[in-house]
Amino acid sequence: MNLCSYDCKRTPFHRKTTASSGCLMRDDSQPPLMVLYTPGRTSPYPEDPVDSGLRAFFLGGGDEVGNVGCILEDRTGTRLLIDYGLAPTRPPKYPAECPAVEHAIMTHSHIDHIGMAPWLVGHLGTTLHGSALTAKVSKIMWADTYKISNIEGYPLAWDRRDMEEALQSWVTHELGEWFEIGAWKCRFHRAGHIPGAVMIEIKTPDLTVLWSGDMDTRDSPNVLGATPVDCDILFLEGTYGNRTHPPRAEEEKRFTRRVQSIVNRGGTALIPAFASGRGQDILRILHREAPNLEVHYDGMGTRITLDWLDHLEFIDEPTVFRKTWRWCRRVSSKSDRKKALDADVIVTTSGMLDGGPAIWYLNRLRHDMSNGILLTGYQAEGSGGRLLLDEKKLRIFGNITPVELEVDQFSLSNHGGQAELSSFARGCAPRHVVIFHADEEGRNALSAEIGQETKVHLPTNIKTIHLD
Ligand SMILES: [Zn+2]
Repeated sequence: MNLCSYDCKRTPFHRKTTASSGCLMRDDSQPPLMVLYTPGRTSPYPEDPVDSGLRAFFLGGGDEVGNVGCILEDRTGTRLLIDYGLAPTRPPKYPAECPAVEHAIMTHSHIDHIGMAPWLVGHLGTTLHGSALTAKVSKIMWADTYKISNIEGYPLAWDRRDMEEALQSWVTHELGEWFEIGAWKCRFHRAGHIPGAVMIEIKTPDLTVLWSGDMDTRDSPNVLGATPVDCDILFLEGTYGNRTHPPRAEEEKRFTRRVQSIVNRGGTALIPAFASGRGQDILRILHREAPNLEVHYDGMGTRITLDWLDHLEFIDEPTVFRKTWRWCRRVSSKSDRKKALDADVIVTTSGMLDGGPAIWYLNRLRHDMSNGILLTGYQAEGSGGRLLLDEKKLRIFGNITPVELEVDQFSLSNHGGQAELSSFARGCAPRHVVIFHADEEGRNALSAEIGQETKVHLPTNIKTIHLD
């Protein structure tokens, strides 16, 4: 059986679904590609007991960025799943099937961390734990994933009923509050990254573990950075393990200057940005640096921001955030969208130009060379943004279309770079560091940086790591 290990760049896919089991199967005439989850029978997880220390088993996200899922288990028989996401590539990548597990902690609401959680609840009866904001935003993220899977026709192993059950299964915890999972005690710490994102500290009878989730030690416009936590074993994300970020304040100023120059020549700056985090960061930067601009905000981020407003305890300087929200013009109708075409700035989804209102706007704006497109972060291989950068083309409503507008790219990510991740690791003073959620270059660079001081492990999906 092939569990989700297909080449997502080249493989066309066709699907047949069996609604009763939620299984999705491939057309046998096609190359291997499928998600076939039959609970309790086909998980690659080893079922033998753990004698000592901690067993870690990545179902996904071990040696790659995205679709994270990892099982931790120790000699007490306590078993915990951390995250269960899907990578929203075309088609998506999924983690391997999860074994029976009563409890799962979701670090934050990005889809590569929570995208498969409804399957857990619907098929294994798992309880989901997370911050109140992660739980709240999950509803929008799952509904959007479900909608897109129908539109695009990609396989999804859970259905609407699983999603409803998942929404009922959340148990939320405040930062710093201890709670029990089996024989373990757990508590959340702020992870930076996005509002509501947490790191997890776990005390087993033998060891202290810290799971970083996606994290950044730098303050960003909406959240303060993470601070180290003493531990024996650190699971550290390494998305940007080989990158050096430019100083954040300078990059924000460079970004604002570019926006201003487009506006000064009579154009509109189109800023594609993720719905959960980056878009709201852009609004904060522009409100602070260029409050004279007329900025319109469109897409799924407008609904997510309403959830943020219900949980201002996760937002840095919430009063300023509220002011920023009142200052920008929210697009809520077709006529609003037409009006936005005359704005100075349009901030909208999707962040990598794979769909969403950004494509509609771009199609209207692309003929006037005074307009410009400002990308606010990394553009994945195969994404619309990457095609635009490399070939000055974009898929617009199904047609590959030349786009001659000025395009610029900025590094406004809320993942720590090599300097932040390595100094964070040193601050935690662990005996073991497991670098996950990273590509080959990222984890090798980070390993070379911290490997002198601590034992570094580079996990492979569906292979056991034993940590004592
Ligand atoms: Zn994330």
